Order: sequence, then structure tokens, then C-alpha cells
Amino acid sequence: MNALNSTVNNMKKMYREIFMKSSDAIKERVDAIKPEGLEGDIFDVYEPESKGQMWQSAVLDMFENDISHEIFRKWKEILKLRENYSCKGCATCCNLACSEFSYEELKKKAQNGDKFASQFVGIFVPYESREEARKVYPEYIDLLDKSVDDEVYFYHCPKLNDCKRCSDYENRPKICRDFPDNPLNILPESCGYYEWRKTAEPVAMMLHSMVEIIGYYKQKILLTEDKKVR
Ligand code: SF4
Ligand code: SF4
Repeated sequence: MNALNSTVNNMKKMYREIFMKSSDAIKERVDAIKPEGLEGDIFDVYEPESKGQMWQSAVLDMFENDISHEIFRKWKEILKLRENYSCKGCATCCNLACSEFSYEELKKKAQNGDKFASQFVGIFVPYESREEARKVYPEYIDLLDKSVDDEVYFYHCPKLNDCKRCSDYENRPKICRDFPDNPLNILPESCGYYEWRKTAEPVAMMLHSMVEIIGYYKQKILLTEDKKVR
């Protein structure tokens, strides 16, 4: 098993463990504000203005006003930590960008006002073949071949010159300035943010799991309200 493959497997294992811990911690907070004497579960259907429905509203309020703010604060700390690292100019991210969308799809998204897609198609062009892309970061492409069933499209930036330098560095768009903006991105070891990624990864995973879990709670609680209306 190659190093990248084992990194990804470790990430999945770590995420599963972190997800379970976050799930228990959020359940504890939900249960802590359950009205005394109330029988039933947070996902039950309750009568309007009943203790059960008040509990559900309090939980939604806690997600909105407490937990979401905690997530946002911690995310800002992760981005602050990033300032201690800098780009080493290895050029991998300019030479190999991946997307689940084809060039045509990205152009359509850009036309429909998607800002990220608009910047992306403004700089990147598609590789003519997967083999061309493989030359840049072979481990990564091999891993995708083995582990991702959906189509992945590979791009490179023509503004990268022969010395692996950006020929329009001062005017590079925000997506270049911000990269990498998430410690859950797979980065090559040559990247100056690799150590940031390693340091921030557990917290980023915890925040990601919390977003997933509160999204699940919200959806299920709102569904109980729909059931009540019908
Ligand atoms: S514009 Fe410059 S920094 Fe951005 S991807 Fe192209 S070469 Fe890299
Ligand atoms: S992969 Fe990292 S070090 Fe390399 S050019 Fe991109 S941001 Fe800089």
C-alpha cells in the first residue's frame, strides 16, 4: 500500500472515530435541555406548544445560536493558524487541479453566477488526457483511480511558466491566494501547508462532523413539523 493510500485510509478511520465522539457530545447537549418529565425522543412528533415542541425549538435555537457560532469561531482559528505557514512554490496546485465537473459544466456554472467556477475557468484548462495529468502527481491519480467511482476531471494553469512560476502572480485570483483553504484537502508533501494540514486536520474533522450531525438533526426535526401540519 503506498503512502498516500494509507494516509487516506487513516483519514477515514480518524473521521469515523471523531464523528462518533461528536455525535455523543451533541446528543448530550440535546438531552441536557430536555424539559423535565417529558417522555419521548427529540425526533418524535409533538403537539403544538407542547413541552416536546418547545424542546425541539430550543434545540434548533441552540444549533443556530451556540453550536454554529462555536464551529465558526474554531474555523477562524484554523485559518489563523494557516498564517504561520506559506507557499513553497512547488506548483503542484497550479499544475493539477481536480474537479467533479467537466470544463463545459464549469463554464455553464460560471455563466449562472457561480463565483468559484467563474475564477476556476478563468485560469484553468483541462488536461488532454489522464496520462498527462498523472505525470504531475502520479500517486494521487492512482489513488483516485482505485477509490473514486465518479468521473474526476483534471486541469492545469497555462500561466505557470517553464520555471514553475506564476507569470501573473500579482493578479492571481482569490482561489489561488486562498489555496489551500481547508485542511481536509489532500496536499502533496511538497506543499508548504502540509504541516498546517496535519496539525489542523483533527479539529477540521470535528467541525465537519458537527456540521453533518446538526444538519441531520435539523432535517429530522423539521420533518416532524411537516408531519404535524399534514
Ligand atoms: S494563476 Fe498563477 S497562482 Fe493561480 S493557478 Fe495559475 S499559475 Fe498558479
Ligand atoms: S501545492 Fe502548496 S506549496 Fe505548492 S504551490 Fe500550491 S500552495 Fe504552494
